[in-house]
Amino acid sequence: MEGPPWTSAPSTPVIKAGWLDKNPPPGSYIYQKRWVRLDSDYLRYFDSDKDAYSKRFIPVSSISRVSGISDQKFEVITHNRTFVFRTESDAERKEWMQALQQAVEEQRVRARLSRANLLEPHCPGIPDRAGSLELRGVKNKLYVVVAGDKVLLYKNLEEYQLGIGITSIDMNVGNVKDSDRRSFDLTTPYRIFSFSAESESEKEEWLEAMQGAIAEALSTMDVAEQIWADAPNRLCADCGATHPDWASINLCLVICKRCAGEHRWLGPSVSKVRSLKMDRKVWTEDLIELFHHLGNEAGKRFWAANVPPSEALHPNSSAGDRRYHLEAKYREGKYRRYHRFFGKQEELDKALCVAVTTTDLEETQALLGCGAAINCFSGDPAAPTPLAVARQAGQRLQMEFLRNNQTTEMPRLDSVSIVEKHYSVVQPTVSHSGFLFKTASVAKPLQERRSREEFSRRWCVLSDGVLSYYENERAVVPNGEIRASEIVCLAIPPPDTHGFDSTFEIYTETERMYLFGLESPDLAREWVKCIAKAFVPIHAEELLCRDFERLGRLSYKAGLSLQRTQEGWFALSGSELRAVFEESPSEETLQLRKLQELSIEGDKEVLVLVERGRTLYIQGERKLDFAGWLGAIQKAAASSGDTLSEQQLGDSDIPVIVYRCIDYITQCGLTSEGIYRKCGQTSKTQRVLENLRRDARSVRLKEGEQHVDDVSSALKRFLRDLPDGLFTRTQRCAWLETAAIENEEEKISRYQELLGLLPPVNRATVKALISHLYCVQCFSETNQMNTHNLAIVFGPTLFQTDGQDYKAGRVVEDLIDHYVRVFSVDEEELRKQREEITAIVKMRVAGSASGTQHAGDFICTVYLEKKATETEQHVKIPASMTAQELTMEILDRRNVRIKEKDYWTCFEVNEREEAERPLHYTEKVLPILHSLGTDSHLVVKKYLSMEAMLMYLASKVGDTKHGMMKFREDRSLLGLGLPTGSFHDRYFMLNGSCLRLFKEVRTQRSWAFSPHTSHKPEKEWPVKSLRIYLGVKKKLRPPTCWGLTVVHETEKHEKQQWYLCCDTQMELREWFATFFLVQHGGTVWPSEPSRVVRPVPESRLGSVSLIPLRGSENEMRRSVAAFTSDLLSAQSPP
Ligand SMILES: [Zn+2]
Repeated sequence: MEGPPWTSAPSTPVIKAGWLDKNPPPGSYIYQKRWVRLDSDYLRYFDSDKDAYSKRFIPVSSISRVSGISDQKFEVITHNRTFVFRTESDAERKEWMQALQQAVEEQRVRARLSRANLLEPHCPGIPDRAGSLELRGVKNKLYVVVAGDKVLLYKNLEEYQLGIGITSIDMNVGNVKDSDRRSFDLTTPYRIFSFSAESESEKEEWLEAMQGAIAEALSTMDVAEQIWADAPNRLCADCGATHPDWASINLCLVICKRCAGEHRWLGPSVSKVRSLKMDRKVWTEDLIELFHHLGNEAGKRFWAANVPPSEALHPNSSAGDRRYHLEAKYREGKYRRYHRFFGKQEELDKALCVAVTTTDLEETQALLGCGAAINCFSGDPAAPTPLAVARQAGQRLQMEFLRNNQTTEMPRLDSVSIVEKHYSVVQPTVSHSGFLFKTASVAKPLQERRSREEFSRRWCVLSDGVLSYYENERAVVPNGEIRASEIVCLAIPPPDTHGFDSTFEIYTETERMYLFGLESPDLAREWVKCIAKAFVPIHAEELLCRDFERLGRLSYKAGLSLQRTQEGWFALSGSELRAVFEESPSEETLQLRKLQELSIEGDKEVLVLVERGRTLYIQGERKLDFAGWLGAIQKAAASSGDTLSEQQLGDSDIPVIVYRCIDYITQCGLTSEGIYRKCGQTSKTQRVLENLRRDARSVRLKEGEQHVDDVSSALKRFLRDLPDGLFTRTQRCAWLETAAIENEEEKISRYQELLGLLPPVNRATVKALISHLYCVQCFSETNQMNTHNLAIVFGPTLFQTDGQDYKAGRVVEDLIDHYVRVFSVDEEELRKQREEITAIVKMRVAGSASGTQHAGDFICTVYLEKKATETEQHVKIPASMTAQELTMEILDRRNVRIKEKDYWTCFEVNEREEAERPLHYTEKVLPILHSLGTDSHLVVKKYLSMEAMLMYLASKVGDTKHGMMKFREDRSLLGLGLPTGSFHDRYFMLNGSCLRLFKEVRTQRSWAFSPHTSHKPEKEWPVKSLRIYLGVKKKLRPPTCWGLTVVHETEKHEKQQWYLCCDTQMELREWFATFFLVQHGGTVWPSEPSRVVRPVPESRLGSVSLIPLRGSENEMRRSVAAFTSDLLSAQSPP
């Protein structure tokens, strides 16, 4: 490599370097000798070849022309400035000019490509900070820019805007230090830059921005450095370019940016391209380890075993050569080393099943690359696939490799013709052209209507997986292109959302959104169909059979494992979300209006959909299209109108709104006198109903917050206002006439018949309601509502009559009286139902419930007292399970008896951080489990400090605490940053809402504060966004052993981590107790720890309950337990 490595981005190799004479500055006649260096992005010159920092850099993109002039000189002409260099000879001049001209030309091609394909998502965007600073030794103020992991110096704002600068400083070697009131130093191993800002506060801001750049540089380097630890990984596997910072994670190769572009072109079914620096999330420890075992060395041995020298790539190969080579290599397998079983499918598959039980990853790579079927049958039903075999054998890395290659299309046995092979990525048969109206692409969701004037008419051609748009149909060069492989989502806003009747939106991987419009809905539909066909892979094409409002790919987690993120294809049609998951062969449908839970976790990053029996986590990998999905799914899951079938539906087709009300009355209103007869307060009733109508699923009716009469009135109002009535307009008369039938048998069978004629949702609702009213009248001694009274109230409500027609009441009375026969209720079922209700009435515990939730089906490992194989317990975690319930469950299983003052608690232990966090007893376990990293686990153990904490809190007045602690900050991402800085004394104030940090208040410093700023906290955090762990890792050399590790998640989803240290253990307990108290609304320990009954599989309870009970599953079971104790005790731990 030429030149010092730190001065150019590692991925841009130097094209040419040498000594040149630069023309004299104004007022001088002496040419200056300069070391000049050209890479594909910049032309720079330095005082000498030893210098780290340039005197000037000129972006190649700003060069408009290079031309020769007299005396072996040449000119580099930019927009408004010309640089003249003098060479030693004509030959040298020619070389320089050629190199420059070629770089300029390539830059243009790349710019065109990246504009169209957005291949370089991280082009320098908006700087983190920019402004003027004085630099010691320089007369005029400089314009300084902090962007990403770099600090760039420019002469002035004008030059910054032109892109011509002095030098750029890579902050991975940088360090910033406060030096004086307005000054600070940026220190690097090569030079110290001493800056002065306008004011002290501005200096602080500069310091912060530069520290941010250091953190950025360190965290982005982390993965790359680990991967580069192996020498072969330091050169691109394909062309040999230095510092490759991209990788193909399925092929297990490290590649350069230019090769990565071509790998992407091959499509994810051949190569899954990820960045070492930007895609931090994918780099799990397993994957990194896998790259140490396979990586470029093994990969080249296999894939490039037979490359003829004429076809080999080098760092400067053209794009065309790269494409040819990579296609031959990975899609056709032209250069691979052939396995001895090549061509013998059965033997390949058998050998694969053997190889995956060993540590021989290269053998697995060779077998897969030579055609072994990744999902072949192993012959063992207990571990049917190679992946399962590897899991059984405990071969972690084999598993990782197999998982990354689940969808890889390896070169096929029969040689594929050139034409055919394109079909595997996109379908070139899809071609379409015509005029579309288009707006400029945007990086944010559209907030407002786009008027017709904002669209421009473009001739659009879809062909070979590229949608190109041209100025007009005669134009030869497109204005831009969107590659189908880059499309992640296609959405169709409702008609007339923008200035055109029909519009559609295309979202790309690089977070851009393109809006197209058309007059004709038919033509628009045709375009949508063609574009969809071009970007949806064949295995998900099923999704295109029906119309959709939104279509695309998303990351998700589901099933028993939370560790692995998979990619699925989703289509939203009405209230159905149809999905093709990675491992399932056919489309599955989620009825969004029937979800048990729909929630957003982690500040809009994860969408949780709980369906009966399964939980699906959809993750927002990209912000832009995910925001669209979020809104669309939420909307689709809400009620769409006032009729019964348009409501959110619960189990067995009962609208959630009905279910919530009945549930609440059953829990809280059965003993209330005059229930359903008494009216609630109009305004409150209205509010309850409005909330339920908006999103019944998220409404939790709570005793003390809603009066039973308000809820009962809301239910009546809802039923009365149903547009078609509960019994439907067409059948209403038939029901009323039946009430007049004298013969009882005839009457009952007529009711049964009519019931069968109702739409399913109406039928289910009638049954649920009558079942409920049947229960209400069982308690008529207390509530005074016998069947007759209920009929008086509900007759007119359900039949929407004015109360004059006595027959309406008669129908209701008949249905309650003959409830068992009309609805064919099983005697046993009824008995159990009555017992349950009696139990509720008896055991009614004041409200703590949070609605009925089931179906989280994750199994997690929890340890008792310490992490060890023998203390391990596998627990199924329902969505509603709290930390206390989990604790009880573990103790129960291990037959641990709880003694008085044993504060058994569930802890989240982070091994890497050497810190742990006691969970509050009300915390839900599932979301915590979801956020646990691989270094963390859950342990149930006694919380020894709890008693001291409780005593402290009991003696304490108020929920605030002030005092000194030692503070240390790591500004980088959680776990990735290298330790920087040290502990300093700071004054903290904690109150009910936030934690404030003040700079030392005890003593003065040389840089004393102005009185104006001394009252302002230096930092402030909302206390609820902090996670506080006990302990600080030793590597940070905490000044005392009583420390806290604090994780703060910012609004931008960044995790910041910092540390606090107290002087004594008592102080630590007091701070922690106060945090715990404030974060959890005033209680730190339950006043009466209740035993929790072990979860029982759904089927065991079967149809016990007609009426959904309020509260969690566990609470429901607890309420049933008294009567069905045999059922529960028969249950053995799974
Ligand atoms: Zn390369």
